[in-house]
Amino acid sequence: MSVPEATPAMDGVDPVHFRKTVSCFATGIAVVTCSDDNGDSPHGMTVNSFTSISLSPPSILVSLKAGRMHRLISTGGWFGVSVLTHAQQQHSAYFAGSRGEESPAFVFRHRVPTLRDCLAWFECEVTSRIQVHDHTLFVAQVMNCDFVSGKPLLFYSSQYFSPGADS
Ligand SMILES: Cc1cc2nc3c(=O)[nH]c(=O)nc-3n(C[C@H](O)[C@H](O)[C@H](O)COP(=O)(O)OP(=O)(O)OC[C@H]3O[C@@H](n4cnc5c(N)ncnc54)[C@H](O)[C@@H]3O)c2cc1C
Repeated sequence: MSVPEATPAMDGVDPVHFRKTVSCFATGIAVVTCSDDNGDSPHGMTVNSFTSISLSPPSILVSLKAGRMHRLISTGGWFGVSVLTHAQQQHSAYFAGSRGEESPAFVFRHRVPTLRDCLAWFECEVTSRIQVHDHTLFVAQVMNCDFVSGKPLLFYSSQYFSPGADS
């Protein structure tokens, strides 16, 4: 009979250790988008907290900390989600705050902008907000979505990967 490995205590987990441990869960990268206060120019924010919740009705959530996107979605009630392709890694840096290049191009849908040439996009209406510590879970119903064939951008152990690449 094998002896179980010692597990750390369930309380008092070091935040740096937690961050490294949770980064073992590979995700894709998405950009949450909405229109600014005037309803014309688009704003985007990189996330990897995007997840699907239910099929009926089709629902998703994103977990957002306080900031401009949080405020805009709280006010407007709608947002877009664009799933990035492996060729759009620079978009992830741009919408995480680097803003170091010319803005990526947007496509205006029914209610919100999404990113041009993304792998998949969703147009979402917020149905509930759940405050959890310093983040808010925005639960939303998907009102429109579509996808193309292609390869996603992957995020694992705090690094970007392309499917099929060795590193
Ligand atoms: C791979 C990756 C995945 C990410 N996933 C997520 C995710 O799932 N969820 C998430 O929330 N972020 C995530 N981020 C970080 C996020 O993309 C950046 O923080 C982005 O700049 C936030 O955009 P914003 O317009 O909302 O923030 P801005 O308004 O531009 O503010 C920038 C930052 O300032 C701080 N700030 C601004 N206003 C306030 C305020 N009133 N109170 C407290 N702090 C404030 C916040 O830290 C905020 O993120 C991710 C980043 C990367 C690279």
